[in-house]
Amino acid sequence: MSESVSLPNAGRFFEIRFESIGGLGAHAAGQVLATAAVVRMGLNGAHFSSYGSEKKGSLVRSFVRLGPADRPIRTSAPVETPDAIVVFHAALLRNPATLAGLKKDGTFIYNAPPGLVPEELAALPRTARVIRVDALGIAVKEQSRPNAVLLGTLCGAFPFLDAGQVLEALSEEFTGRHPEAVASNERAFRCGATQFEALAGVGRAEGDLPATLSEPAWGYETQPIGGIIPEPGNTVWNDLSASRTGWLPVLDRAKCIHCGLCDLVCPDLCLVWGDGEDGGKFERELMGVDYRYCKGCLRCVESCPTGALAKEAETPGLADGLRVPLFPDVIG
Ligand code: SF4
Ligand code: SF4
Repeated sequence: MSESVSLPNAGRFFEIRFESIGGLGAHAAGQVLATAAVVRMGLNGAHFSSYGSEKKGSLVRSFVRLGPADRPIRTSAPVETPDAIVVFHAALLRNPATLAGLKKDGTFIYNAPPGLVPEELAALPRTARVIRVDALGIAVKEQSRPNAVLLGTLCGAFPFLDAGQVLEALSEEFTGRHPEAVASNERAFRCGATQFEALAGVGRAEGDLPATLSEPAWGYETQPIGGIIPEPGNTVWNDLSASRTGWLPVLDRAKCIHCGLCDLVCPDLCLVWGDGEDGGKFERELMGVDYRYCKGCLRCVESCPTGALAKEAETPGLADGLRVPLFPDVIG
């Protein structure tokens, strides 16, 4: 174990919140960071995550709390007023809860390729530091995952987090279970630690952001009568865009023979069919994909016998441009 490091905010804990989607590795990142802090950096640390029952696709929050070795951490409450927020998927920026509670001198790291800054980020504190890193792009190139890249960026942004120790903890985590991934994770981590950009003039809010209420929206005193679900999350209003991890199925209609094999294997019924004609005979034809419901599992691509569905890297706006709505009368 190295000598204990000094935290940047003497007198209180340093708190980090990872905002993610199941499958992007936020829980593992939190675990690696807290382990490195406690075992290798001489700090006190605590980590836990909150997530749904699904293995992939649902919202995941992972919390890391660090403190000096002589100050026990006696709380396991969620981190509501973080010093740093790390966002694993740009689609999460649409949710105001993602930004909630950031301190006015906090750091906001988000995963997105270079380009326009989402207007939602204007809600960040004017004095907060905003960092963008193309974690998905780096992860795809290095055959790793966004969590390794974002851990690197976090260490790059906060020198008190000893990058060498965190990287060793990351490698140790994978040596036993996935030794083949150690080298690619190391490359991704190192890229993340250097290939990020600090953005100026993003936030416009004054002071600390308010924390979200930890009370559930509906309780025994307020829930609607009769089991009504007023905010449906599993119906046509659902949006699985944030579940994709960098790849999309893209249809080339000229190669499609409308055999329907893709539809048989799609777990979310995202393929949209319409009326067509072949040699004067009526037939149902595949019109495209409603990416709103597509989680990017690519089973459809694997099953397509003609190559009409192919895997493409998701770039900003690609899904919106190609989307064929499944329920145009409800959500166009
Ligand atoms: S499996 Fe391929 S060829 Fe068959 S309907 Fe789907 S996209 Fe078209
Ligand atoms: S990648 Fe293909 S099979 Fe998977 S959810 Fe999307 S459309 Fe369905």
